[in-house]
Amino acid sequence: MPRLRFFPISFDVAGKAVVVAGGTGAALAKLRLLAKSQAHLRLVTAEAEPALTAFAAEHGIEHRTSELTLADLADAALLFVATGDKDRDAIFAGLGRAAGIPVNVVDRPHLSDFAVPAIVDRAPVAVAISTDGLAPVLAQRLRAAIEALLPPEFGRLGELARSLRSAILSALPTNAQRLRFWNRLIDGRAADLALAGNLAAARRAALSALAGSTGEEAGIVWLIGAGPGAADLLTLRAQRLLLEADVIVHDRLVPDAVIEMGRRDAERIGVGKAKGRHSVTQGEIDALLVRLAREGKRVARLKAGDPLVFGRAGEELAALRAAGIRVEVVPGVTAALAAAADAGVPLTLRGVAASLTFATGHGAEGSEPAGWPAIAAAGGTVAVYMGRTAAAETRERFLAGGVALETPVLAVENAGRAEARLFAGTLADLPALAARADVDGPVLILVGPAVAHGALADAEPIVPAAAAPVLAAVA
Ligand code: SAH
Repeated sequence: MPRLRFFPISFDVAGKAVVVAGGTGAALAKLRLLAKSQAHLRLVTAEAEPALTAFAAEHGIEHRTSELTLADLADAALLFVATGDKDRDAIFAGLGRAAGIPVNVVDRPHLSDFAVPAIVDRAPVAVAISTDGLAPVLAQRLRAAIEALLPPEFGRLGELARSLRSAILSALPTNAQRLRFWNRLIDGRAADLALAGNLAAARRAALSALAGSTGEEAGIVWLIGAGPGAADLLTLRAQRLLLEADVIVHDRLVPDAVIEMGRRDAERIGVGKAKGRHSVTQGEIDALLVRLAREGKRVARLKAGDPLVFGRAGEELAALRAAGIRVEVVPGVTAALAAAADAGVPLTLRGVAASLTFATGHGAEGSEPAGWPAIAAAGGTVAVYMGRTAAAETRERFLAGGVALETPVLAVENAGRAEARLFAGTLADLPALAARADVDGPVLILVGPAVAHGALADAEPIVPAAAAPVLAAVA
């Protein structure tokens, strides 16, 4: 087994002098990092890059404009050296050692007593990543991954913990009891309140849980937008809640990669509603969510795109509210936005399109969808959901609203995903979409003059080339 050469420790710098010697950009980088701490920072350098001087002034950092001497180190706890000059670096490192304080010389490990890890700062919580100085890129990668895992407010959990320590110590005598309590606390309502910034309420909730007065843990349902189907279009909040959920209830359109992001031991329930083939009714889904939450479960209700856009979230919210169950909505990237992004189509464009309408090609239970032809007559960009099989009817609705046959149309199958396909044409072509056997993924249709301003050169025609067999035969 390899052993660590660099052993990560956390050094108490509160109120202590930390000296940075040198006037380089590297010195500035160190100062920036150290400015996250409670240390008293002292910059010592006769010559400094303007950005360094400005940073010191802006952050009230003591700046001694002379070369480093022992006197500058008299009260110091740590020394960082970044002069950019090999010989001076060595001399200053020697001064630090003579003063008996640990030294870090930027990019010169042989002159250094310690290395500085990559840091994820969620004060008072910090994650330090050390690679024995060998693989900075690996450290950066790891840091990015951990940054994504810890919401910016994560440190508030640390503050909450700090404020509860002594109360918990005196209330719960055994280590096992305390561990159990902390674990429940981190998964529970107090942590949610702390993450939402309400530390006082979080503390109250925690203390009343401690007094055993809250009884059973209450369940919660998060209505989470999973985005168009690419795992990296999920929000950080969605990712965090997925990891917290005991149960994941998902639609058919949510891809496995996203469902997999939940806890390994979480229960997963598919309530997919394939078009025309309702495996589970909406009423059954509502009842399922209420039942799970009543069992005290933390339920992630995952929906494609945004839950509030053609997601039947209205019914689920109403059922949960009526049952007195706590419910929160996490927005997601809706298909229209993903489709527009795939082709770089400006959904609104000065002088061309001043509005964006989310419309559906299907009414409830196969009825005529409401709002047409006024939707078409509005004149901006219209995003049509569930419009592929009703492409011909959709065209008629646009025509009835006075939209011209030559108005540009873009249909995107599997928008936002690696396998996205773009189909461009005009309103005249739209019915051909329904006839295509090679298109069976979800399709979002954008209609309006702004569509022509997208990057459509690589899009396929809506009417497949094979539909012109005569020409093909001649060629
Ligand atoms: N709540 C979802 C919409 C659900 S309705 C959202 O905000 O995106 C289902 C319709 O959404 C599909 O018929 C299709 O028109 C559209 N849709 C969902 N995901 C899509 C995707 N990745 N690409 C294209 N269209 C999609």
